[in-house]
Formats: sequence, C-alpha cells, structure tokens
Amino acid sequence: MKTIGLIGGMSWESSVEYYRIINQKVKEKLGGLHSAKCLLYSVDFDEIERYQAEGDWESAGKALGEVASSLETAGAEFIVICTNTMHKVIDYVEARISIPVLHIADATANQIQSSNIKTVGLLGTKYTMEQDFYKSRIQSNGINVLIPDKEERNNVNKVIYEELCLGQIEQASKDYYKTVIQHLVDEGAEGIILGCTEIGLLVKSEDSEVPLFDTTVIHAIEAVNTALKK
Ligand code: GLU
Repeated sequence: MKTIGLIGGMSWESSVEYYRIINQKVKEKLGGLHSAKCLLYSVDFDEIERYQAEGDWESAGKALGEVASSLETAGAEFIVICTNTMHKVIDYVEARISIPVLHIADATANQIQSSNIKTVGLLGTKYTMEQDFYKSRIQSNGINVLIPDKEERNNVNKVIYEELCLGQIEQASKDYYKTVIQHLVDEGAEGIILGCTEIGLLVKSEDSEVPLFDTTVIHAIEAVNTALKK
C-alpha cells in the first residue's frame, strides 16, 4: 500500500471527510483491521483564504508547494490536494516535488464519462465556477459544463465560505442550492458536479433529480485505488 499525502485544512470540515472515506474504503477493500497509510498536513485556512481574496495565487501556490515538499520528505508517495479551488495552483505544487499529484478534476471527469453524461452543471467557489483552470480540465474530456448565473454564483460562494467552511449546515441554504441545481437541470444539465469539497455536507443525492458527482468522495476513492494499485 502506498502512503497518501493529503494537503488539507481547506477547510478542515472537508478534510475530516477525506480521512474518513479513505480509511473506510481501505477497510472495505482489505478487510479486518486494515486502514490507510496516510499523512495529513492541515494548513491554517485563514492564511490561504486571504491570499485567494487578494488574488495572490503565487503566495498561495508557494505555501502549498512547501507543504507538498514536507509531505514528500515525510514519506508520501503521491499528493492529494483536498480542495477543488486550490487546484488552481497545482503547477506550484508539482514544481516542488518529484511525486505525482492526483488531480480532482481528472478523477471527476472519469466518473462522469463512465456515467455517459455529456452535460454537467458545476457548483463550487466563484473561482472554480468562473475561472478556467477547473472547467477546462473537465471540458477537455468532451463534457459540457454549465454554471449558475452571476447572482446564484455569488450566493453559492457565500454559503461555502460563510457557512460550510465554518461547519454550519443551514436548511435555507440547502433549499437554495436545490433551486440552483434545478435551474441547471432546466438548462440541460444531466448531472451536477459538487465541485467544492464541503458541498456534500449540505446537498445529498435525494436533493437532485439528476446524479450528483461529489468531488470529495470521488477524489478520496481515487486516492485509495491509487494507493492500492500494484
Ligand atoms: N474546499 C473548497 C473547494 O473544494 C473551498 C475552500 C477553498 O477555497 O479551498 O474548493
């Protein structure tokens, strides 16, 4: 079994899910007392979020690059960045290490392709929904990506940073997300990417008439498959 290097803390609410899912999957696959070999480096999200808000992606990238390098030194054999948004700085991370990084959008695109879905709606932070670094990776697999309108994007983003990353799960926000999902379905989405690692804490499959692609679950399972690959 390979040792997984997790870059977490963005937010820790979702890192807990990664840790839980990864260990559950290893137990499911190997049985008994088996659990995952993993290292979790959990950052102070306040520092990272400041860089995001200032548009200082270089400092954010350097900070995560440093973390990845520490994980490699500590024995990690590949890296999992436990957030969609921070894949924006994957180049900084890859530049600092000689082990691979398991890209969250690639794992998600593979899952969508195996469901034979051609058009998906994307929910995430405003960076993930509006910028190209994430969408283009999904689109390069022949999948069309729809995003909510501007007002909806702002509200979806606000719920992530002001509630979900603080551990708050509000019924009103769940209802709002359901409405946004329905709008995307009305526009032709055959599936929805929960493209932020905290959204699965709020929205569940029964909240949508089309399949949900929860990036936390997909990414965590892909990490286990990679760790157990011979
Ligand atoms: N966990 C989130 C994501 O998947 C948002 C927090 C962050 O900005 O990293 O994008």
